[in-house]
Amino acid sequence: MTEKQHIEVVVLGAGVSGIYQIKKLIDSGIRATLFEADEDLGGTWYRNRYPGARFDSESYTYGYSFSQELLDEWHWKERFSAQPENLRYLNFVADKFGLREHMRFNSRVTVMKWDEATRLWHLDFEQGESITTRYVITGIGVLSTPTPPRYAGMDEFKGESFHTYWWPKEPVELAGRKVGVIGTGATGIQVISEIADKVGELTVFQRRPNWSTPLNNSLISNEEMAQIRTRYDEIFANCAASPNGFEHVPDYRGFANLTHEQRVEFWDELYAKPGFAILAGNFPEIFLDETANKEISEYVAGRIRQRVQDPVLAEKLIPKDHGFGMQRLPLETKYFEAYNRDNVRLVDISDMPIQNITANGVQTSAEHVDLDVIVYATGFDAITGSFDRMQIQGMNGDSLADKWHQGPSTYLGLFSHGFPNLLMVAGPQSVSGSTNFPRAIEGGVNWATQMLCHAIERGYTRFEAQAEAEQEWGEEVKRAHEKLLARRSQGWFTGYNSNVRGHEQGTVRYQAYFGGGPKYAEIIKRVAAGGYRQIDMS
Ligand SMILES: Cc1cc2nc3c(=O)[nH]c(=O)nc-3n(C[C@H](O)[C@H](O)[C@H](O)COP(=O)(O)OP(=O)(O)OC[C@H]3O[C@@H](n4cnc5c(N)ncnc54)[C@H](O)[C@@H]3O)c2cc1C
Repeated sequence: MTEKQHIEVVVLGAGVSGIYQIKKLIDSGIRATLFEADEDLGGTWYRNRYPGARFDSESYTYGYSFSQELLDEWHWKERFSAQPENLRYLNFVADKFGLREHMRFNSRVTVMKWDEATRLWHLDFEQGESITTRYVITGIGVLSTPTPPRYAGMDEFKGESFHTYWWPKEPVELAGRKVGVIGTGATGIQVISEIADKVGELTVFQRRPNWSTPLNNSLISNEEMAQIRTRYDEIFANCAASPNGFEHVPDYRGFANLTHEQRVEFWDELYAKPGFAILAGNFPEIFLDETANKEISEYVAGRIRQRVQDPVLAEKLIPKDHGFGMQRLPLETKYFEAYNRDNVRLVDISDMPIQNITANGVQTSAEHVDLDVIVYATGFDAITGSFDRMQIQGMNGDSLADKWHQGPSTYLGLFSHGFPNLLMVAGPQSVSGSTNFPRAIEGGVNWATQMLCHAIERGYTRFEAQAEAEQEWGEEVKRAHEKLLARRSQGWFTGYNSNVRGHEQGTVRYQAYFGGGPKYAEIIKRVAAGGYRQIDMS
């Protein structure tokens, strides 16, 4: 038997998390190698090349904050930058700091097995290679496992079809063609808005509508960018202080202290503002109190009615099964106006379910829709999907997928008891999933690196979060979640996905921490200051 190559520290995934993680390890004098399943870096922004894919975080709040030089050099051209530019940015970062030489691509880890005797992880790659490593830090993404639907006949379709995550690199001819988009979540809304005026005919297959409000994007001029650069310290301080990691701050005047007219006036302002202002800058009561939520939902419904000419169609586009802000809010650019076009048609598949895909299109219970292109905008096995796709075996051969069968169980979203020497950046039950990702990612990477240095400097070769600490964290995650009206919604916040077995309607999975960025940052800081008492090290 040939001896396996040994790499002391391994990082998995070359998205925003992995790129910063490998940099931080190198800067800390720790030799590490990053393995990425895909053929190049970028993660979310390497994939998702569909028309309309862009940030709904303000670009300058999304970029890394760790290097003044980087902040000085990079010019964001749009307030909400699009996928090609975001990918260029991540490549710019990797090249600037010489990170590529520490990365190996086309390296998907399929199996991770812990060996207690040697205190090593054994990693198997899809391509057949195997290595051993002492420490694994995952940055494998929360929206990196796409979930196409499970319709019969999908392979028989003769035209082009793809999940939005796998949108081809080569331009897809849309002009004059009959295009079907299945799904109206955040991705569907972006793609529909962008292609409505470019295709011959567009058929949107909608099962459940989503709330959506204007992105209000704009270009960033040289002067504006220069101004933003002078404000970076303030921008990142604002993000660190806000629960959601944005510059938008909740309005604490008290929902009930204002009259209905005052609230509507305020919402008119928020509706015209960019990005998540209407969500993150709103009254906190709208997320907690039925009456407040009903009122804002009615307000946003009114906006949809104003924008969609056909009143029957408008009603179909207004969610009736969940209130505003209870699921991840998609932001849009002229989405509702797309339905006023003659070439755009909505097929309500809650009334007329899709029966199968045929060689020439989609067969619903009521009609056959002829199509040249089918776009599956059906989202992701969110948060835990990429963990479940690996066979991860910890102590006594126990499987992580089995442990997380009913939902993830972690300590701080960074560790899972029974799986030693494994750190998860932007992991399940961390605050990343509920906030502006990179802000929490940077905090998570800094913390994980500091903890690892602490262990290595003291000669420890094994660490594991205590079971009681994990249980307490689970209760804290649940407490924060239970306060929100969102606890009753069916989206990835609650682990719902009809295309993933076991994630269909029914069980709530506590996927993300909703206690807010500042509280989370304070908790992990306290754990470090206390000498990591909740982590057994030896
Ligand atoms: C369309 C879209 C728009 C978004 N917009 C925003 C936004 O505006 N603001 C925001 O905060 N967040 C947004 N997000 C969330 C986004 O995922 C995060 O912002 C961020 O990119 C996550 O980075 P990451 O490195 O943690 O994960 P990813 O970017 O998902 O990277 C994970 C990487 O791990 C690799 N990987 C997975 N499994 C394995 C394995 N077994 N072995 C090796 N490699 C593996 C994947 O191939 C991937 O490259 C968006 C997500 C999507 C899909």
